Amino acid sequence: MKKLKNCPLCGSSKIHFLYKNQDKNLGSKGSFNQDLCEICNCIFLNPQPEKKEVLGFYPKDKYYSLQRIDKGSKANLKIELCKTYFGGGNQLKKILFSPISFLARGAKMKKGLKVLDIGSGSGQFLYEMKKFGLDVYGLEPGEFNRDETKKEGLKIENKPLEKTKYKKESFDLITLNHVLEHLENPGLALSKIKSLLKKDGLFIVAVPNSRSLAHFLFRKNWYQLDTPRHLINYSDKNLNRTLKKSGFRILRVRYNSRPSQFSVSFRYLFGFKGKSIDKILDVIFLPLTWIVNALKLGDQIEIWCEKAH
Ligand SMILES: [Zn+2]
Repeated sequence: MKKLKNCPLCGSSKIHFLYKNQDKNLGSKGSFNQDLCEICNCIFLNPQPEKKEVLGFYPKDKYYSLQRIDKGSKANLKIELCKTYFGGGNQLKKILFSPISFLARGAKMKKGLKVLDIGSGSGQFLYEMKKFGLDVYGLEPGEFNRDETKKEGLKIENKPLEKTKYKKESFDLITLNHVLEHLENPGLALSKIKSLLKKDGLFIVAVPNSRSLAHFLFRKNWYQLDTPRHLINYSDKNLNRTLKKSGFRILRVRYNSRPSQFSVSFRYLFGFKGKSIDKILDVIFLPLTWIVNALKLGDQIEIWCEKAH
């Protein structure tokens, strides 16, 4: 582990200890300190793990994005939502699906567009997007089921972003879905993404939002801290600033948090072990989820942007 003296996002030395927490998701041993930057308000793990320590925090049999592709009803629902909202679906369907429209990852998706999903895991999102009609590419530095991705025709490379050899300006759409918070050097990643994006391309980045009601209520038990896998926890405000500084123009901010912000955090707070209670709590907390998203206080955001120049 290495101790940071400056904020990993803005570089300020005005940082202080915020709280200590544990890995309540996958059970990594030990406690971890979270610090707060007084200038940009990002919350970050300090000390941070070395590269070789990081892999140990992602057990292949447990980490969600490295598991097999789900081709069942949940995936079919998301494909249907994409067709409805981005493929010219009819108005009645749009109205009927509106209570669960937050499940669709909003994109200006047109059939045939070339998309790169960075940190694609086993390719769940790419599987759904291929079914929708996009030309899909992925990058995943961790382990994933190569036989399955090959069988599904998903072009996923087993390497990190900095080692890719794609041509400059070759993608219409680049997605970074709940990945930025896992990276130790966000500036470097954003600069590479900018170089791979076409001039009129769209970049969609999604992260947990620490400036949210769920974080305010649950603090160190807020489940989206996902300690120790999230190295930097962003807010809507500091991510906006970071993207602008990296040469992007913000087009839209979408608050698409889910009931799990309350149900799983609730379970962490009271130390319940089983996950069976989550489903009941999800239903109870669904109306509150709609309210916090409308008030821009949801704990998950998706920012759409394009190159500023
Ligand atoms: Zn900072």
